[in-house]
Amino acid sequence: MPELPEVETSRRGIEPYILKQTVTDVIIRQKKLRWTIPSTLKSQLTSQLIRQVDRRGKYILLRTDAGTVIIHLGMSGSLRILDKSVAAEKHDHIDICFSNNKVLRLRDPRRFGSVLWTKADPLKHKLIAKLGPEPLSDEFSADYLFSSSRNRKVAIKTFLMNSHVVVGVGNIYANESLFSAGINPKRLANKISLPRYEKLVEDIKVILQRSIEQGGTTLRDFTQQDGKPGYFQQTLAVYGRASEPCIQCGKPVKQITQAQRSTFYCTHCQN
Ligand SMILES: [Zn+2]
Repeated sequence: MPELPEVETSRRGIEPYILKQTVTDVIIRQKKLRWTIPSTLKSQLTSQLIRQVDRRGKYILLRTDAGTVIIHLGMSGSLRILDKSVAAEKHDHIDICFSNNKVLRLRDPRRFGSVLWTKADPLKHKLIAKLGPEPLSDEFSADYLFSSSRNRKVAIKTFLMNSHVVVGVGNIYANESLFSAGINPKRLANKISLPRYEKLVEDIKVILQRSIEQGGTTLRDFTQQDGKPGYFQQTLAVYGRASEPCIQCGKPVKQITQAQRSTFYCTHCQN
């Protein structure tokens, strides 16, 4: 599943090709994604200039004077920039065509992604309005996490993965940052001290930033029909390493399930 670093890498990958370009056509081959692609998208978006390519959480926002396209990659979505002449393949559900003869093409085999349109402020859209702060912003601080956790009797890992608390700390990054900060993922959020939250917030930022930088090495994949744009090899300390030796102490990494998601941690290094 694309997590925040992959979505940010996708945003950076497509931006140079579509920013300040005019939309010449919208081709919808499959409108039934997680939500149906609005029937007005083609008429509203055609002839518009892309003013900004933004991201909020895992939503990519293509802003025009008439409104904003809101794209979510779901479980398996990916975006590519191709020449108009490249034939669409199976699972290529929508093309947004531009005056520079490029197309922005969404491929999504599982169809949990979405392409929506709003004429209003996209940050007030019902899917976006209630999202917590961006993890790389100053708003996401130890003080914020500490104060918002005081009455939350929930495991810290589940707390971190709640998008109303902070956006974009998905399962991989919650596991990795709790390992890095030495915090047991089962510890209750309201029982964690401010100094420990300081270490955790710093580690979340470092790990996400490092992943975004790693994603930068795949930017050229956005212009190739094959390949997997936005998906990249990550260096993982604990995620997916059940029973393998902990990189710090050598004891086997433990795997449990929390809120239907796999948790990996070291019982010796995380408490
Ligand atoms: Zn260990």
